[in-house]
Amino acid sequence: MTGLSDSFQRPINYLRISVTDRCNLRCVYCMPDQGIALLPHSEILRYEEILAVAQAAAALGVNKLRLTGGEPLVRSELTELVRMLSQVEGIDDIALTTNGVLLRKYATPLKEAGLKRVNVSLDTLKRDRYQQITRYGRLDDVLDGIEAAKEAGLDPVKVNMVVMQGTNDDEVLDFARLTLNDGWHVRFIELMPFSTDDHLAFVPTGEIKERLLSLGPLETCLTSHGNGPAQYFRFPEAEGTVGFISPLSEHFCFNCNRLRLTADGKLRPCLLSDYEMDLKNPLRNGASPEELKELIRQAVAAKPHRHHLAEGVLPKGRAMRQVGG
Ligand code: SAM
Ligand code: SF4
Repeated sequence: MTGLSDSFQRPINYLRISVTDRCNLRCVYCMPDQGIALLPHSEILRYEEILAVAQAAAALGVNKLRLTGGEPLVRSELTELVRMLSQVEGIDDIALTTNGVLLRKYATPLKEAGLKRVNVSLDTLKRDRYQQITRYGRLDDVLDGIEAAKEAGLDPVKVNMVVMQGTNDDEVLDFARLTLNDGWHVRFIELMPFSTDDHLAFVPTGEIKERLLSLGPLETCLTSHGNGPAQYFRFPEAEGTVGFISPLSEHFCFNCNRLRLTADGKLRPCLLSDYEMDLKNPLRNGASPEELKELIRQAVAAKPHRHHLAEGVLPKGRAMRQVGG
């Protein structure tokens, strides 16, 4: 097999890069309101260092990048990083995962710098509820950000909804309806148990699918960018798609193609395992491109077969916001 593949013959061609552990929101399932220990700035990879990792990964066969965080749009000059990454030989897709609050300001410059598409996290269409879930956000900013992303030509714009029993699960039909005539691409995500708030409960994908059937039958579909961990469907005649990401009820490890780079320069082959390979110190000690490639190969070789979230096994070392989701 050409390119990079792990010990279980899974091709690895996708690197998610967390550019910061900071965020302008405090979503209840992701971060506590207060008392978060943030990384010192000196620990966070500089853009030249991220570029060096992306170049080494691309030389090994990675062709897709996604920028995430924390909230990637709070890092200054993110557009400059996108411009640098878009010039890396072998990279043909750069995407962003964002809460969307700052998208109106940055969508066009990001698109001009080489960003292709964007996923926006949005868990409710109700103003008060948005503020309760995110603690600091304003729904109108996100809706406007989604419009700005579409106007800028970022395509597709996908909306990710983490579904929580008794918190926002009464809105799954409202989100699904937006795929019918408004062309939204909505993905329903099973809540992973990372929060200390035990009032939050996940809703299994099977249950969400059943509720959606009241809008019509769901037809399986593929997307132009491959399906990754999501399964995609469409209502007949709908412009948009409905996706499901089900880390608890249907783990998708068998076709996982990703690696993650944390904001402080650790390469993690699995979101849900504590194994990580430090790249920051080698980078700062002058590692050559060949040495970086060898470290990446070693991390890929250590990618676990699957996670065990459904059996209650959680990573101990880092929270979601520190790995990048
Ligand atoms: N701040 C950006 C955002 O919210 O899109 C990017 C980082 S965020 C950690 C990435 C994704 O992880 C978001 O879609 C968020 O909803 C999701 N996420 C965070 N905590 C989660 C949890 N406990 N279960 C499921 N998804 C979670
Ligand atoms: Fe911030 Fe994203 Fe986590 Fe919400 S999910 S607190 S926006 S990093």
